[in-house]
Amino acid sequence: YGDASQKIDYVFKVVLIGDSAVGKSQILSRFARNEFSLDSKATIGVEFQTRTLVIQHKSVKAQIWDTAGQERYRAVTSAYYRGAVGAMLVYDITRRQSFDHIPRWLDELRSHADKNIVIILIGNKTDLENQRAVPTEDAKEFAQKEGLFFLETSALDATNVESAFLTVLTEIFNILN
Ligand code: GDP
Ligand code: MG
Repeated sequence: YGDASQKIDYVFKVVLIGDSAVGKSQILSRFARNEFSLDSKATIGVEFQTRTLVIQHKSVKAQIWDTAGQERYRAVTSAYYRGAVGAMLVYDITRRQSFDHIPRWLDELRSHADKNIVIILIGNKTDLENQRAVPTEDAKEFAQKEGLFFLETSALDATNVESAFLTVLTEIFNILN
């Protein structure tokens, strides 16, 4: 977790998108503060959280943007996407509808964001395997077809959350170097 005194080599803006209640805010909370809350209220106020990490001997400040609940009204604004170099497209593996909406989110992302943006598809809540409604293969196939990275995560038990962020941040870093 970040040391405020260190010099920053890069700042990467990454946006979280996907249907309401898929776990975007908890994924961010797990990554930025290593915290999780089961009764998280709809996100209010906070625009982004940051965490500084080291990639190939450079310090990279990840500035991760979270929607303030606007996704419920599909009213995420273009300001949200502006300057983003990475995106995490999140669905809930127990809610098929949240996966079926992914193409729409991808369209919105592609129409608002930079064309070189690095995108990862994330199936969250793998701790609820017994309620799974989206087979891993379906998502993997979709990701492959669309040229996205793909991982399944659990913000609750922390599975793959770190890996998901590192995948995106490292790819952005490699594109720039
Ligand atoms: P958002 O609307 O996409 O930001 O979703 P939230 O982060 O607010 O999470 C919605 C609900 O799902 C909350 O009750 C969270 O505690 C719960 N949740 C988020 N991630 C997980 C997870 O990995 N596993 C489980 N079991 N619940 C989760
Ligand atoms: Mg939220």
